[in-house]
Amino acid sequence: MNSARRLTPSSGWPGFDELLDGSGPVDELLERVGDREELLLQALRIAGVGGWELDIASGTLSWSEETYRIFGVDPQDEKPSAELFYSLVHPEDRARVLDNQSWSYETGDIFDQEYRIVRRDGEVRYLNSRAQILPRGRTRDNRFLGIVRDITERRLFEQQLEAERARAARLQSELIHISRNSAMETMAAAIAHELNQPLTAVANFSAAARALHARDPLSEQLEEACRQIESNAHKAAEIVRGLRAMTKPGNGHRTTVSLADTIRDAAALALVGADVTISYDLAPDLRVHVDRVQIQQVIVNLVRNACEAVESAANKDIAVAARRQGDCACIAVTDRGVGIAEDLLPTIFDSFVSTKEDGMGIGLSISRRIVEAHGGRIGVTSKPGEGASFWLTLPLAA
Ligand code: ADP
Repeated sequence: MNSARRLTPSSGWPGFDELLDGSGPVDELLERVGDREELLLQALRIAGVGGWELDIASGTLSWSEETYRIFGVDPQDEKPSAELFYSLVHPEDRARVLDNQSWSYETGDIFDQEYRIVRRDGEVRYLNSRAQILPRGRTRDNRFLGIVRDITERRLFEQQLEAERARAARLQSELIHISRNSAMETMAAAIAHELNQPLTAVANFSAAARALHARDPLSEQLEEACRQIESNAHKAAEIVRGLRAMTKPGNGHRTTVSLADTIRDAAALALVGADVTISYDLAPDLRVHVDRVQIQQVIVNLVRNACEAVESAANKDIAVAARRQGDCACIAVTDRGVGIAEDLLPTIFDSFVSTKEDGMGIGLSISRRIVEAHGGRIGVTSKPGEGASFWLTLPLAA
């Protein structure tokens, strides 16, 4: 126990000389006090806490060994002083620390500050210091007694956390932006997808009508071309109405229709320009209460997908069937095309899942939404290389 060393103000825990004013054997007292002080010093060192004392009257500043370590000062080289302390405090924090110390000195309130220091080697550390003016010894002279802790790791961690939070917030707002855009893209793509066919027909029949009119204004073919223009324009309008209704599930215009007719009309639309053979096995008596346009969209999607699946296949047969299954009608569109990879099956009805170079991957997800909004289910069975069979159920009309 080296109590003599700690009696020098700058080398040990400060502020115990007042204990030497009693009677009795000084050595014994010194030893007892020194033991306790050593214990306290070690506890503070382990806790990473440094101690300091400023004797107001003499202006003498004392640091514990831990304080030297925290400030990065070698006790052999320098003695602590207010000048040394303030030269180490970060220039941006200096005025604030000084202000608060003066305030604490005048009021007797606890000084509790976080500030940065710049060590001699340029390293910046974050410190927390607590101190208070206390009377000392017999003379009751005032002194500032304080502790200092290095909180750099905690500060850096908090800064990192804050940066992560800011990054997460940025990502979230980007995600919201993207998903909003995606919803618009989805809608735009769906409209383009569905309107393309009737609008192309309107354009083609208009061109034909003009040519026919130039040749023979009274031609019957001209009348037929005009009828086609009118019918396809209506179809386009119906599709737009259906798409708008899709954004408000349940708001579609539902009527009781023949399922076989609905399927045939939709399939015929999907087969325009396709090099396939289609066969129907449609129970004639099935009636469903549905939004006809929406259900036709589903059939168009399934048949178009089937056509694309058999494009490079030897067998270009597509079978469309509709049968009663309890209270429901079950519709199946089956092809012998490329089939679906096993790992794709679980997500095939999700948006933006596509294996096609120009595919949007929205046909099946829209189909699922429509079928489910009608109280039905949709699914698929497939083996890669052997084709696929998409099925859906719809409740039969009462
Ligand atoms: P897209 O046709 O734009 O790709 P869909 O939602 O209609 O979007 O289909 C998603 C994917 O499902 C397709 O890219 C294709 O990989 C697969 N798929 C759909 N129908 C069939 C089918 N009959 N045979 C094989 N794969 C199919």
